[in-house]
Amino acid sequence: MAFDYDLFVIGGGSGGVRAARVAASQGAKVALAEESRLGGTCVIRGCVPKKLMVFASTYKHHVEDAKEYGWDVEPGAFNWKPFRKKLHAELDRLEGVYRKLLESSDVDIFDTRARLKDEHTIDVGEKTVTAKHILIATGGRPVRPDMENAHLGLVSNDMFLLEELPKSILIIGGGYIACEFACILHGLGVKVTIFNRKAAILRGFDDEARGLLQESMTARGIEIHTGTTISELAPVGEKPVIGGTGSDAASGVPPTEAEKLERNEKSDTDAKASGPVWIKASNGMEREFDHVFFATGRAANSDDMGLEEAGVKIGRGGAIEVDEYSQTAVPSIYAIGDVTDRVQLTPVAIREGMAFVETVFKGNPTPVDHELIPSAVFTQPELGTVGMTEEEAAEKEEIEVYCTSFRPMQSAFVDRDDRVLMKLLVSKETRKVLGCHIVADHAGEMIQLAGIAVKMGATKEDFDRTVAVHPTMSEEIVTMKEPVRTA
Ligand code: NDP
Repeated sequence: MAFDYDLFVIGGGSGGVRAARVAASQGAKVALAEESRLGGTCVIRGCVPKKLMVFASTYKHHVEDAKEYGWDVEPGAFNWKPFRKKLHAELDRLEGVYRKLLESSDVDIFDTRARLKDEHTIDVGEKTVTAKHILIATGGRPVRPDMENAHLGLVSNDMFLLEELPKSILIIGGGYIACEFACILHGLGVKVTIFNRKAAILRGFDDEARGLLQESMTARGIEIHTGTTISELAPVGEKPVIGGTGSDAASGVPPTEAEKLERNEKSDTDAKASGPVWIKASNGMEREFDHVFFATGRAANSDDMGLEEAGVKIGRGGAIEVDEYSQTAVPSIYAIGDVTDRVQLTPVAIREGMAFVETVFKGNPTPVDHELIPSAVFTQPELGTVGMTEEEAAEKEEIEVYCTSFRPMQSAFVDRDDRVLMKLLVSKETRKVLGCHIVADHAGEMIQLAGIAVKMGATKEDFDRTVAVHPTMSEEIVTMKEPVRTA
């Protein structure tokens, strides 16, 4: 059977665009559909604008330190509007770069939503096209919790579009997005409060590392309430009479599925337009904030795409189920990136896209390697991590823990209390470094390099043989002589 295309990619984010370009470079006839903006979450409403906001948020600190280092400067006020304008100009530029890359690779672009008709047929706007292979790379979206007035809360997508910076914000959640935005907004002068339902932020990260990060964030002025969540939310002025029926829990009437959907899906415009809000916490505390920001996780973008009708299996949170080659239950349909909810990171989606092309267009079946992926949380200080946490490693085998925590030279000089943490987890049996965790400014940069050694299977003695670069913070990673404990 003749098809219009060898490959039709749905979703123009990092994974989809890379797969489309590389497949086209192999001589495949490729099309890509994107209903929003090319670049996807990473470029338009995630990593890139977030990192630029991280940079913006650090300057107050730098200027304060500069004074201590002898510079005659005063931190002025941060002006959101000119920064926001420049930020969006940069995103427009990057979106243009993505479009040009696709065009120069001869990929046909459909700027519209695509929906499967069957395993080889796709409706794109008014048109219907066929493809031998279909790649779903539609990513994910932030979700609000199921509670009354949830639509009043912002989600991460809204944070780049705010007309004004709030004076105060309540962030619900203690994951990557909650912690990163807490530090960004705090650095930009917003009074930040976090409600984290567990005892510590960043569940899944090394306990000692996340403990230090939580302390550092608190010391800098972020108010973190652990074991706490939001139980009621209303516009200021419309707060329910205490003891009244302000929530479903209070009314005892469970919401219908349609109500739940409507609460969660209300447009971002509602959230941006919402004024100050009143909240009640799970511990009974009542407060008012300019905004509430739900950083409570993400769901896969797999709804209403005709996937299940075509035979694709969908799992928890809408994630598309795939095998190690990113193939779904339907042989002609593959899926990569956040929509498969394996590891929600841009470089992983790109890897999955490349492995898909290798498998399908180069005749070289390539499973995706999800082991030992380094990553960083861009908080202040940053948290860089690769491999197992102490808790995971100790569960698996006998380990030695090498760990040091100290005041780095640069901030000690200006009498800041910031502490750095460098930690290695070493297998007693094989001497391999099983995990490396760094809490420090630029830990993201450091862990990228440490990640190479850990991925290569370096032993503690390999680290020890490496001469220190002096004076740096990261030299500690090769100079820790004795374990602080075994586990
Ligand atoms: P996470 O899963 O990391 O965090 C979600 C947080 O919300 C957790 O603290 C969770 O608590 C809490 N939560 C969930 N539901 C509720 C609820 N109903 N009420 C109160 N709290 C709730 O999700 P994020 O959205 O922060 O990030 C999604 C993914 O995006 C990450 O896993 C990461 O892979 C990726 N990402 C990566 C970044 C990077 O590489 N720097 C930056 C940003 C995102 P609990 O722990 O109790 O479940």
